[in-house]
Amino acid sequence: MIKYIPYGKQYIDQDDIKAVEEVLKADFITQGPKVPEFEKKLAEYCDAKYAVVFNSGTSALHAAYFAVGLKEDDEFITTPITFVATANAGLFLRAKPIFIDVEANTGNIDASKIEGKISSQTKLIVPVHYAGHPCDMEKIKEIADRYGLSIVEDACHALGAKYKGSKIGSCKYSDATVFSFHPVKHITTGEGGAVLTNRDDIYEKLLMFRNHGVTKEEEKFVKMKEGDWYYEMQFLGFNYRMTDIQAALGISQLKKLDKFVERRRKIVEIYNKAFDYNPYFDIPVEKDYAYHSYHLYPIRLKNNYKDKKKEIFQLLRRKELGVQVHYIPVYMHPYYQQLEYREGESPVAEEFYKREISLPLYPAMTEENVNFVIETVFNMFKEATK
Ligand SMILES: *Cc1c(COP(=O)(O)O)cnc(C)c1O
Repeated sequence: MIKYIPYGKQYIDQDDIKAVEEVLKADFITQGPKVPEFEKKLAEYCDAKYAVVFNSGTSALHAAYFAVGLKEDDEFITTPITFVATANAGLFLRAKPIFIDVEANTGNIDASKIEGKISSQTKLIVPVHYAGHPCDMEKIKEIADRYGLSIVEDACHALGAKYKGSKIGSCKYSDATVFSFHPVKHITTGEGGAVLTNRDDIYEKLLMFRNHGVTKEEEKFVKMKEGDWYYEMQFLGFNYRMTDIQAALGISQLKKLDKFVERRRKIVEIYNKAFDYNPYFDIPVEKDYAYHSYHLYPIRLKNNYKDKKKEIFQLLRRKELGVQVHYIPVYMHPYYQQLEYREGESPVAEEFYKREISLPLYPAMTEENVNFVIETVFNMFKEATK
């Protein structure tokens, strides 16, 4: 019997366990040396100048939006096909999300629709590399430059991905890039996140935002230093720190990242071969410019099957496949509906939601697991369409 296969989960080995154990026996379990070590290695991996780690991807988004200067009554442009955190993090700063419709095949923000929604309030564009497929960053950067807007990439799905040969996280086309280290993502620290940037001013703000808006650096003091105990709080920040326990796990996981992505791509190759030209659903695409890191394997039901999604989803769940749906368009949630967002505003995204199901995909999947998914999916469609 094959037991329940989730849509995603972590891969932890003995090296990871040892790394965590070592920190537990060391002097510092938080605010110690493992955090800066993880940051240095993450920045190196991504070809960026700086990395600042946080206690979640959500707090990393909050910090990144703050650091690029997003504030009350500003607007920021993003996609409805994302986790709610992408939009919520802007609401934390009392800014207003403007949702742009998506491309039907990648599920990514449709860059050609951005310009029409830019207003005098717009400050920021937040592209989300859905499922690990990079957005068309050259186009997005061209628009941002023309209108003087910042760009923060929500790359929570896209650690290890590349756009036109450059690593996502290198910030070649953005001011900052955000990752999450939740267990379903490419590498994990339990909970955790990071912001990558090449800009000194953003880096300084991120460090302070993570630590209550406090600085201990004398050259930054506004008032006179009153003694060696002295520190200053200069704006309202949070305790968004990552522990050294988590950072040690992150360092150990990062060593395996390329292998994880290769394994994900290998599983996708097997899926694609089995599912190519099937009559039931479309499989994910990888555009010429993209190196896809496949956080998810989102299938899209064809016309004849999209009205049966609920039934198909439930049948798969009953057969021990932990399928999931990514995502309910953000503005369809009750909280957003009581703001000023209305059903129908992003028709392609709503259609995407009606069709999409994510099949299980994670590096620890065995060949047996992969074959079980393929068989179960085919059997189920035959059953559902008899
Ligand atoms: C996971 C995720 C987040 C939030 O990350 P957490 O670490 O869970 O806070 C934000 N955006 C997207 C697209 C995500 O997938």
